[in-house]
Amino acid sequence: MFLGDYHIHTPRCGDARGSYSDYVEEALRKGLSEIGFSGHCPQYFCPPEERKRESAIPEEELALYIQEVESLREKYRPSIVIRLGLEVDFVPGKEEELQSIVDFYSWDYLLLSIHYLDRWPFDDPRYLSGYKERDINEIYKSYYQTLITGMKTGFFDAVAHFDLPKKFGFRPTKAIKEEAEALQVCREQDLVVELNTAGRRKPVGEFYPAPSILTQAQELGLKVCLGSDAHQPEEVGKDFKEALALLRYLGFDHIVGWEKRMAILYPIP
Ligand code: ZN
Ligand code: FE
Ligand code: FE
Repeated sequence: MFLGDYHIHTPRCGDARGSYSDYVEEALRKGLSEIGFSGHCPQYFCPPEERKRESAIPEEELALYIQEVESLREKYRPSIVIRLGLEVDFVPGKEEELQSIVDFYSWDYLLLSIHYLDRWPFDDPRYLSGYKERDINEIYKSYYQTLITGMKTGFFDAVAHFDLPKKFGFRPTKAIKEEAEALQVCREQDLVVELNTAGRRKPVGEFYPAPSILTQAQELGLKVCLGSDAHQPEEVGKDFKEALALLRYLGFDHIVGWEKRMAILYPIP
């Protein structure tokens, strides 16, 4: 039986704690059959002097990250499958720099994430005031426009935390047409939608994406994968039972795992 958590951070990410094996041991305790490490990719979009250790794998440590996960994979091979990916920040206009990270290694999968809008780290609680300075509908609109641009690069396998701007509970006051458009682009680009359980642990208190978005995704025939976005070992596989129940309820019957950028469909346990 397949059950995989494909969104797990590592001590190399700067903002996660615990050792690699703590994360694997927790996955074994929770009965997962696979995990994927998705470290925050190096901040290729910033000049080197502005890159922060606290929020990404430093570029000079990317090879180490790969070595560490590869050796873990060997060590745990009989008991759990370990995949190697990245959670990649997409920043429009920096596609060339990004290409070198995509080509750096034969990744199992790459998650597309938007954490910055015009350099505003909108999901960082230290920059919450940005929500007061902008129109909430405009925030969502530009978020989805950026997401769509990222989707169309063809660099990615899945979209992480699809509706991240809701993290602190700020919701749009009208329907955002770019949201529906983003789902269409997912289909055109054959991108998987991540059901990310971390939203439950944030002020918004619900998974990413919202049930209404998942419903549309199901109607469009999109595929889904599961991610806890663990930044500490206890969070691995968090709330997966409920996530699976929700997916089943909405009519999904498969979840996705990857090997070397090839999506593999497994029946929902
Ligand atoms: Zn993080
Ligand atoms: Fe993220
Ligand atoms: Fe993450």
